[in-house]
Amino acid sequence: MPIKYGKKIREKVRAAHLKSVARYKCPECSRLAIKRASSAIWACKKCRATFASGTYEFR
Ligand SMILES: [Zn+2]
Repeated sequence: MPIKYGKKIREKVRAAHLKSVARYKCPECSRLAIKRASSAIWACKKCRATFASGTYEFR
């Protein structure tokens, strides 16, 4: 089933994807080790703290 996305939608999806795979600074240990664990769950790889945050972006 072909899915057609408009140009703007595609750019949004790409930006969201880049944010979702980026690493963020952990508020607990202040190391750049936060990675997305599932849709709105972010986990620190160093201290194993988990945070509920944005679906595509850690804030
Ligand atoms: Zn941490």
